[in-house]
Amino acid sequence: MPEGKIVKALSGFYYVLTDDEQLIQCRGRGVFRLNKVTPLVGDEVVFQAENDTDGYILEVKERKNELVRPPIANVDQAILVFSAVEPAFSTSLLDRFLVLVEFNNIRPIICITKMDLTNQKERDEIEVYASHYKSAGYEVLLTSSETEAGIESLIPLLEGEISVFAGQSGVGKSSLLNVLRPDLELKTDDISSHLGRGKHTTRHVELIKVGNGLVADTPGFSSLEFTDIELEDLNYCFPEIQRTSEKCKFRGCIHLKEPKCAVKSAVESGDIPEYRYEHYQTFIQEIKDRKPRY
Ligand code: GDP
Ligand code: ZN
Repeated sequence: MPEGKIVKALSGFYYVLTDDEQLIQCRGRGVFRLNKVTPLVGDEVVFQAENDTDGYILEVKERKNELVRPPIANVDQAILVFSAVEPAFSTSLLDRFLVLVEFNNIRPIICITKMDLTNQKERDEIEVYASHYKSAGYEVLLTSSETEAGIESLIPLLEGEISVFAGQSGVGKSSLLNVLRPDLELKTDDISSHLGRGKHTTRHVELIKVGNGLVADTPGFSSLEFTDIELEDLNYCFPEIQRTSEKCKFRGCIHLKEPKCAVKSAVESGDIPEYRYEHYQTFIQEIKDRKPRY
């Protein structure tokens, strides 16, 4: 049976892209209602072809993850878009996105854009932050949608993956997508407005081809709350803290008041930037203060 990936869902049809680049318009069969699976954009499916253009979905394969807003499955990477200036770069917001993305088993790629608007001092500061995040283990790109600088480094990272853009409004997400797919003429300020949808209507998401990769046309991670994250998870969402924690005296050390904590030593010696540890502490507190759910 042929297989493919759902790239678009509209009015009861699922558009399945096959490995040999065919787009097959499929309907679901009753099986989904029995299994309570609603096919999502991003799903890997098995289908039965009726002819060259139409078919039926027979099976939805197990998902690696599932985002709610926008509804999309099997996201491999999130391009975390931050502007160097206008609005100013914020490490606390970046760290919050990083935690949420890592928690969902998604690979983050940090993209600091609008570099063309920076002066020398701002550029130097951004370079220092970029070096911190690189040594933590992240991919960091410095780009400009205006001059297209750095874009050539982004395209190969998209190859073979499902990527979603994330970041505050106004940071330059749609501008980047426009540089990647100028033919789509997406409107800036709101990626999804190109289909005439208002900001508050239900969002349909579509995967669009960029080079040899697929990119969601609607940004993800609109909610920045740590709803499902537990205290113990946080360690794993800060790679450099996690690596260092192997040297903490106590197993299960959460690096707050415990003695002989390697993480606190690394912060004191400057190996881990102070602001990263401060955000870790803030997030720990936020999770502790969260109202229990019943
Ligand atoms: P979004 O809300 O994240 O999709 O942000 P937009 O792509 O709509 O960008 C917000 C504003 O910043 C728009 O006026 C863009 O023209 C501008 N902008 C975005 N990227 C760049 C860039 O790299 N350089 C400059 N100079 N302006 C940019
Ligand atoms: Zn510790």
